Amino acid sequence: MEKVLLKNVGKPDSHRIDTYLAGGGYEALKKALRMDTEDIIQMVKDSGLMGRGGAGFPTGLKWSFIPKDPTLQKYLCCNADEGEPGTFKDRSIIEHDPHLLLEGMAISCYAIGADTAYIYIRGEFAFGARRLEEAIAEAYQKGYLGKDILGSGFSLNIHVHRGFGAYICGEETALLESIEGCRGQPRKKPPFPALSGLYGKPTVINNVETLACVPTIISRGAEWFASIGPEKSPGPKIFGVSGHVNRPGLYELPMGTPLREIVYEHAGGIRNGRRLKAVIPGGVSAPLLTEEQIDISMDFDTLAHEGSMLGSGGVIVMDDTTCMVKAAYIINRFFSHESCGKCTPCREGTTWMTSILKRLEYGEGRPGDVELLEGLCGNIFGRTFCPLGDGAVMALRGALRNFRQEFVYHAENGRCMV
Ligand code: SF4
Repeated sequence: MEKVLLKNVGKPDSHRIDTYLAGGGYEALKKALRMDTEDIIQMVKDSGLMGRGGAGFPTGLKWSFIPKDPTLQKYLCCNADEGEPGTFKDRSIIEHDPHLLLEGMAISCYAIGADTAYIYIRGEFAFGARRLEEAIAEAYQKGYLGKDILGSGFSLNIHVHRGFGAYICGEETALLESIEGCRGQPRKKPPFPALSGLYGKPTVINNVETLACVPTIISRGAEWFASIGPEKSPGPKIFGVSGHVNRPGLYELPMGTPLREIVYEHAGGIRNGRRLKAVIPGGVSAPLLTEEQIDISMDFDTLAHEGSMLGSGGVIVMDDTTCMVKAAYIINRFFSHESCGKCTPCREGTTWMTSILKRLEYGEGRPGDVELLEGLCGNIFGRTFCPLGDGAVMALRGALRNFRQEFVYHAENGRCMV
């Protein structure tokens, strides 16, 4: 497939505006500025673009929720937090093709009537933040940002806001709290950000990869975009493959590419000729799939139907040397550490799950621990304030459902089966 999102990655000085302009960069913005804003929103709706951050919400529909009143202050926030373990796709766009993101943001802001936008980037991505700041300065200098962009009357300022490394700030309302200088904890919804978001004003929050799709939709048309991949969630998608494969890395492929093809063809198969044991298809919150389940289309609907999720598209591959108890312990320890503490089922539940998994892993399991874990999952799932608690449960449930015997073995024998 022709590359859209990673097409400039690998070019010399791919992050510079001159390189971007030489490849036709900012032509989509010029075209958009001549269009009616409603037509842009309709075009994005027609393209079928679904948010690439994990939730898979239709982007054009999200934009259409913003009130049309021109006197209202509106904001766009780009979610560049990318804190999901196993996910590293946005970073590549930020570091190697920042102008693709800036152009997508400018088009989005014009469409929703926002004159101010923020890029919320996690604090650890110092290099990415610097690259963005340099790119923003270049865009101001060339007239693609600032006052009266290209004589259109549309003005836009983009600010980079560095977070402090809390996973929960990837949740959209916690992200808004963090930008406002408050503790990064999720807000109650409704009201949804489209009506009351940043500083109480209508706000769109979109992921980096989502916004990076926008210039191509404007320049190539909604029909072209919609023709790539499955009808319900079309377009190009960056899959980040990590773990026990021969060629870990980023692969831009049509949405809906079979998971087996991603693992065995693009990522080169399992390292050292070992057998595949399990794959997490979309970041650690996504329930894992076994070897028998990977003949599956990597799109939002199909994975949800199979009891997993596409999430961020971070594919984590585990071979047959992997102990599932250890894997579950490491993943759960992450969730427990990152729980923001606002609600009891998540704060206490993930801590409790982690301590049980730890004693199983260290040979100190007790009879009944597996049933206790299953009971805890049932008491957390659907009872937390935000999806982090559910994510912790889904990851553990996936491991228990497919590899329960390994957990029982650990509890009874104090050691690994593998
Ligand atoms: Fe915080 Fe966890 Fe509750 Fe979400 S589910 S609000 S992260 S304590």
